[in-house]
Amino acid sequence: MSRNELLINVSDNKKCPICKSLNLKIIDKIESNINDFHNFFNLVLCKTCKHRFISKFPNEKYLNELYRNNSNYVIGQYEERKLRKQEFIDKGFTQVLPDNNHWVLKFINLKKKGTYFEIGPGLCNLYKVFVEKEWICEALELQEWIKGPGIVHKFDLIKKDKKDLIVMLDVLEHTVDPILLVNKLSTYQTKEGLLFLTFPNGESFKSKILGSKWPMVHPLSHLHFFSKKSIKIVLEQNGYKDIVIQPFSYVEVYRLLRNVPKLVIKCFLDIFSLKFKSLINRISEFILNILDLLNGDQMKVVAKKIK
Ligand SMILES: [Zn+2]
Repeated sequence: MSRNELLINVSDNKKCPICKSLNLKIIDKIESNINDFHNFFNLVLCKTCKHRFISKFPNEKYLNELYRNNSNYVIGQYEERKLRKQEFIDKGFTQVLPDNNHWVLKFINLKKKGTYFEIGPGLCNLYKVFVEKEWICEALELQEWIKGPGIVHKFDLIKKDKKDLIVMLDVLEHTVDPILLVNKLSTYQTKEGLLFLTFPNGESFKSKILGSKWPMVHPLSHLHFFSKKSIKIVLEQNGYKDIVIQPFSYVEVYRLLRNVPKLVIKCFLDIFSLKFKSLINRISEFILNILDLLNGDQMKVVAKKIK
């Protein structure tokens, strides 16, 4: 993928992609470790609905192409990710471990079997729970190496019948037009059916304090950072009523506390060796993690189809 291709396939966001307001503010320039993105994107805030987003969006065709080609524009080339991919390919779906403690399950009576549909099941740990409990399961997964019962790789192959549960975790922030995607999904949902979402929390302490240095700000992978108000707009426009909109954090209290003695020792060592920059980094990271426990940088949503 070249910079020229990038230039002809992205366009400026002149209004908020969610509420369409023109009342926008540039937060700061996004520094990226991808050379082609140097001085290219800004992080923008909509003052009306508090939605955050990157200043230029790719067109859908180009974005799909980037994902299909595993471009580093959209996919971090992490060793761990490659390892887990190979493991899935080698062992197959039958060896996937079900995640029986997943938060989604707290809102569902698994014994009351129904139809389950997941967009982007990834390594299928949640999907497997529903397959094992003999629900009618379907999933759309664009990565073609992910194979399993009911998993298709193209939107057109999804069966037209309505689904009781639709789950889409960490997908919405990647799409150019989240309203359109939820609209498309809503036509597959039964009335009173539940929709489950997760995405990065644009109103979290980390987001507000770190601005474009928040690790979730990652063009062209993450395009959107929802606020409570902006996700409500997406839901309401598509006939959903929110039941839960709740921040959560990946920081573990236990691990954080367990590391306190080590942190204190390291801070003293920094002071004795006059490494003040390192000292400040350590302390700010610790404070950010505590703040994240109060207002986490991820968001979970449960919504009911009412129309
Ligand atoms: Zn807005």
